[in-house]
Amino acid sequence: MCAARIDCRLSPAVRTLKPSATLAINEHTARLAAQGREVFRLGFGQSPFPVPEQVIAALRHHAPEKAYLPVLGLPQLREAVAGYYRRTEGLDISPARVMIGPGSKELMFLLQMACEFEVLIPAPSWVSYAPQAGLFTRNVRWLTTDLDNGWRMTPAQLSRVCSEDPGRPRLLILNHPGNPTGATYRPEQLEALADVAAQFGLLVLSDEIYSGMDFAGAHTSLAQYYPDGTIVSNGLSKWCGAGGWRLGAFVMPEPLDGLRDAMAAIASETFSAVAAPIQYAAITAFTGSDGIERYLADCRRILCALSRHVAQQLRAVGAEVCDAAGGFYLFPRFAGTPAATTAAAKDSATFCDRILNDTGVAMLPGSDFGQPAGDLTARMALVDFDGTSALLGLTQGAADAEPDVAFLRRYCTAVMTGIDRLCTWLAGE
Ligand code: PLP
Repeated sequence: MCAARIDCRLSPAVRTLKPSATLAINEHTARLAAQGREVFRLGFGQSPFPVPEQVIAALRHHAPEKAYLPVLGLPQLREAVAGYYRRTEGLDISPARVMIGPGSKELMFLLQMACEFEVLIPAPSWVSYAPQAGLFTRNVRWLTTDLDNGWRMTPAQLSRVCSEDPGRPRLLILNHPGNPTGATYRPEQLEALADVAAQFGLLVLSDEIYSGMDFAGAHTSLAQYYPDGTIVSNGLSKWCGAGGWRLGAFVMPEPLDGLRDAMAAIASETFSAVAAPIQYAAITAFTGSDGIERYLADCRRILCALSRHVAQQLRAVGAEVCDAAGGFYLFPRFAGTPAATTAAAKDSATFCDRILNDTGVAMLPGSDFGQPAGDLTARMALVDFDGTSALLGLTQGAADAEPDVAFLRRYCTAVMTGIDRLCTWLAGE
């Protein structure tokens, strides 16, 4: 019998959806490497550091846990997350307001599905916020930021957009320390943004997934200034080096219990609950310890030294770049480099392709982050090194000495070599 042809029509919202740019560059560079090309992987933003030993031990110990857990998460883990915010931010969070999901990205997806908001996104921003909004045909408004202003949105800008239609329900997505720029907001800047958000009744999704990687160890949550309107998003992926474990956490404000319940209902019909052993291990991560604090401080010292050094190198060849305040990234603009004129690339994607082709350095073009294509910007993730040996190298050195260039050359070799090649290319040599 001849089988009937399967008529598989994609729904309109997914027809134009492409794989996430960050995951796509990861696969592309892996393919190039498999063909024997020398590639410097500054495209994909995965932590170079190992999961802290104690957290791994907790996972081993809990491997036999096999039961489905409650949809909102394991009660002891929700308590540990609340405790984390009490300890790190002085926030009085009830565990009832904590929701655990398979990565913060999935929780953001549930949020966008559950609520009909116009979505305000500062540009440049992380690659998945706008596509998620698109999947639910939410209207997206970009709020353009600029390098001269440290890539930060201003309260006046936010107020201007909200004043256009003051009663409209809106979700503002704020991310600090930021991906792709590394920018963060100081407490007084957060306070001023919180005033505007409160004035217009905005719901704010404060994506603080890089909070533990704030180089000064001084991250401040927006929830300190706008507790009733802020959802704080975090997880194990960045500061705990466990992206592949897929565990994220939302802390939701009390007036939004209805939203939390709606999200839990969607979760119950989709992923059910995060893997039990991972949730048990996450208790150890969020509870913290002296060892985990030491680990975080060491990761930050390495990332900060590397980021400062790379920014200096880039400036020396005419690129403009803001120093990062935390996280894994730099977001340089290359328009002022000799290569920008000779390469005659009109958009950031072509420019990044040429760089990959000529130097082996993989980066993501600024256009993937909502930055105008003609602005020759790119995101570099300074993570192509073995964080385990770098941490070991640090503990063998002087206790509080900052990692110097010799250290970076020895332990962050691929990043340093990639930057040397890139700078030579940018200088037109
Ligand atoms: N938010 C930002 C800014 C990110 O960079 C990432 C991951 O790259 C995520 C959220 C998603 O993290 P998770 O692994 O918790 O889904």
